[in-house]
Amino acid sequence: MKQIYFDHNATTPVAPEVFEAMLPYLKDEWGNPSSIHWAGRAPKKAMEEARDMICEFLNCSPVELIFTGNGTESDNLAIKGTALSKKKKGNHIITTRVEHPAVLNTCKYLEKEGFEVTYLGVDKEGIIDIEELKAAITDKTILITVMYANNETGVLMPIKEIGEIAKEKRITFHTDAIQAAGKIPLDTKELNCDLISISAHKFYGPKGVGALYVKRGARVVPLLHGGHHERNRRGGTENVAGIVGFAKAAELAIRDMEAEGKRLALLRSRLEEGLLERTPHTLLNGHKTNRIPNTTNISFEFIEGESLLLNLDMLGVAASSGSACTSGSLEASHVLIAMGLVPEQYHGSVRFSLGKLSTEEDVDYIIEKLPPIVERTRSMSPLWDAEKGTGAEIEFSAKSCLK
Ligand SMILES: *Cc1c(COP(=O)(O)O)cnc(C)c1O
Repeated sequence: MKQIYFDHNATTPVAPEVFEAMLPYLKDEWGNPSSIHWAGRAPKKAMEEARDMICEFLNCSPVELIFTGNGTESDNLAIKGTALSKKKKGNHIITTRVEHPAVLNTCKYLEKEGFEVTYLGVDKEGIIDIEELKAAITDKTILITVMYANNETGVLMPIKEIGEIAKEKRITFHTDAIQAAGKIPLDTKELNCDLISISAHKFYGPKGVGALYVKRGARVVPLLHGGHHERNRRGGTENVAGIVGFAKAAELAIRDMEAEGKRLALLRSRLEEGLLERTPHTLLNGHKTNRIPNTTNISFEFIEGESLLLNLDMLGVAASSGSACTSGSLEASHVLIAMGLVPEQYHGSVRFSLGKLSTEEDVDYIIEKLPPIVERTRSMSPLWDAEKGTGAEIEFSAKSCLK
């Protein structure tokens, strides 16, 4: 069967160069980088070099980088770590309604612990209103956390502007840049952020390794207490092979980002135009230009995105939707809901995220195969019947979700 992968925002394949770079540290150089004897020397040196490479990628200094176990941990460390370190100054946090669960659920947890959180809304293109942000700031505000690129739509938030406001008000500013990393430049000297989360597996590195940039002067209370690793900010023997792979992925991104971005933007246009032109009742979700080059989110109105995904999977095409079947109910995308879509739009959404594996041939395959599937699925959909006025019940039940 064909295998077409359009889900690079979920994860990416490990680049062959990354795999090669990691191998020695899984095999012969297995020492503990904290050891002072011979076994620790090569791993320690490899880690230092890896840290330098990732610092080049972010344009920061080695003391400003903490390696973590994944992007989720980076977000948790940034948010809980700041909340704990500044709790005497205030208890108010500002975020948005369209963040990744790693941020949203961390904020929800802090609400239970006595913090107050403002969840900013977004416009129909998925972007927050700067004036609304300014108005939300109080003298108790200690942290603003706003993602750079949205994982479902690819839409970019005005990070530099938010950072300027935060700086002026002396509020810590964190951005989850996990979907931006490797796709657009991330220069800490330009972004006005105090904290930036990144994760290796979203840009051809291995799973299970992330990093948090912590600007000099910013303080995060550790989540993991233990040895003196990462300057006492994250205890635990380092994932040496993972970190080496992470650094190789960063090196490849520095080399390839620009050309690959152009290639993907062209492919994405071809996909978007192909699908939107050939399928009636479709809608592009998110800002048309202000987004990372690889992501497109399209609503096929009056059907369930899930059934399209199952049909695509049978053709060997991997894509994804914001909505997921959890505990037997169809859970809609919180991002698309925040953008003001109505149920018949957000239930029919599909996200295609392109990357190194994507080719023109893949795009053309989808453009050819998907429109007839949409037509067929629609003809069987109670939503479509309702739209046509046959009066069928509109219901998203567990049964329709799992079919
Ligand atoms: C994938 C992702 C995360 C989580 O990163 P992991 O390394 O998988 O834990 C957080 N935020 C965004 C925007 C993501 O896309």
